[in-house]
Parts: sequence; structure tokens; C-alpha cells
Amino acid sequence: SLWEKSGHWENYKDNMFTTESEKRDFAIKPMNCPGHIQIFNKGIRSYKDLPLRYGEFGACHRNEPSGALHGIMRVRGFTQDDGHIFCQPSQIAPECVDFHRLAFKVYGDFGFDAVQVKLALRPEKRIGSDEQWDKAEEALREALRACGAEWEELPGEGAFYGPKIEYHLKDSIGRSWQVGTMQVDFFMPGRLGAEFVAEDNTRQVPVMLHRAIVGSMERFIGILIENHAGAMPTWLAPVQVVVMNVTERQEAWVREVADGLRSAGFRVETDLRNEKITYKIREHSIQKLPWQLIIGDKEVAARTVSARTRAGENLEPVPLEAFISRLRDEVAGRK
Ligand code: ZN
Repeated sequence: SLWEKSGHWENYKDNMFTTESEKRDFAIKPMNCPGHIQIFNKGIRSYKDLPLRYGEFGACHRNEPSGALHGIMRVRGFTQDDGHIFCQPSQIAPECVDFHRLAFKVYGDFGFDAVQVKLALRPEKRIGSDEQWDKAEEALREALRACGAEWEELPGEGAFYGPKIEYHLKDSIGRSWQVGTMQVDFFMPGRLGAEFVAEDNTRQVPVMLHRAIVGSMERFIGILIENHAGAMPTWLAPVQVVVMNVTERQEAWVREVADGLRSAGFRVETDLRNEKITYKIREHSIQKLPWQLIIGDKEVAARTVSARTRAGENLEPVPLEAFISRLRDEVAGRK
């Protein structure tokens, strides 16, 4: 019944998975928004509570045609970094400013410096008055101006329920991906009975802002892998360091080094296989691990580590502590 009320059943049924339990029909959620409105509707809300922000790494399922599925870029079950902000019209601009700054910080951390901003404006078929649209579109422009952003306007490409800002990332070989969005919605809160007590004691319907920074986590991981060609920056790499021995004489120091790195918070593996060191180096190079530590007799005697970078550069042996502090800097600086 929730999906009937929200309009999804009427407009989006073909993309929804259904099931039944105890003779009741259920639909698996394709979007998180109606759930957040239900949380908003628990209890009486006052204008003093606004803006009210909900965030969730929300699991969604959509019955995409099998031909549309594509690796982890397009899947039927995915997780969105989804958030909804319930606010008054006057709060749209400041909320968008905060969001814009956060989004740019996140994109920068992930290594995307070329972010394109687009503003999708009123389509021909729409709900809401022209005055509402004027205000909402102007609020988004005001926010972008306040952030010093440059943007492109897309007339007619907004959703029928409100305008939106889109964030497109350019990857390292120039391809463009739409990831983030900040969308104004005049429609769904009213449709699902959301309201708040205004300063003059009347009941009013809040505006809802739908926002996501990376969009689908699965798709974003796909974009990251493409962008970095698998060579993840150290802070992101699933395994940051592999420690390996030349012969079995160095096993104990290899383990001690790995433990030291682990207790400093790094993701570490050891490679103690009885294989030639050149073979091990080649294998981990193909895996694009950021750091390889090679431990021979000299390193054991001096209690040092010899690091090899992903680019294949062999560094001078240093004490473990020195390597740890270098790694700390690299991770903290998202280098
Ligand atoms: Zn939403």
C-alpha cells in the first residue's frame, strides 16, 4: 500500500520485485525515499525541527531487463548513499551549499578533480506552480553561485516534481559519469502525508531534498576501478602492503613487520611461500598492490625493511617506524 500511495506502483511497477508472505503482497523497495518519509511521519514535527536530515546506506532492488545489466556498473541489487532533507523553501539554498561542499570534498578524496555540475530545469509535464518552480530553480542557482561553482543548465530535463543539480565526474581517460544528485521535490511529501507545524500554527508540507554523493556504491566502485585502472591509491587499496621473505631464514622478522603494520592500522598480507622472490614481486605487481616490502638477511640483521613502490622503484632500507610514518602521511593526505 505504501508503493501505491507513493505512485511507484502505478509508474514503476515493471521495475519492482514482488513477493508474498502470510497471504499479503509485498514489494521489495526500489528506492529509499518513501521509507524516510515514514520515519518523518512518526511524531509531530515543528518548523523548529527543520531542516531534518536522514541518511542511509540503503539497499535497493530493481528488476532491470537482463540486457541492461553490466558488470557492477548496472546491477539489480545495489546500495545507495542516500539521504533526504526535509526543510522549508527558504532552507533549500543553504542545504544545497553544504551538500555541494561535501560532495566536492568526497570526489577530491577519491581522486576526481574534474567535476561537472549541471542544473536540470522544469520539464513541460510537471506539477507545482510556476512560482514554486521559479523559487526552487533560483534557490539552486543561488547555492551554486555561493559555492563559486560553474554549471551548465539543461532546460526541460528536471523531474516532473522538481529541479535538480547533477554531478558528473570525468575519469582519467576523459569519460563522463553521472554520480551525485541534489533534487528538489514538492510532490512526494504531500502525497505521503508529511507535514509540520509552521510558526503561525498552520500545518504545512515540507519540501524534500533527495541527495546522493556517489549514487550506487557498486557502480561507483566500478568507476573507481576504471579511473585508477585497478591501481587504487594507498588509502583505498584493499591490501596496502605485502611483506615477503627471500628465504625461510627471514620468516620471524616478516611476521613481526606485518604485525607492526597491522597494529598501526594498515591492511597487510605476508607472502612466505617457498617461491623465488622475483616470482613473488611479479605476482604482486600484477595485482597492483601499492607497497611491497622485501625482507632479506640484511634487513633482518639491521631490523629494517626494503620497500618497492608500485612503479617498480626500490627504496633504501629504513627502520619499520620510518616506513610506517611515510605510509601514514600518504593515507592521511589521500595521496
Ligand atoms: Zn529519494
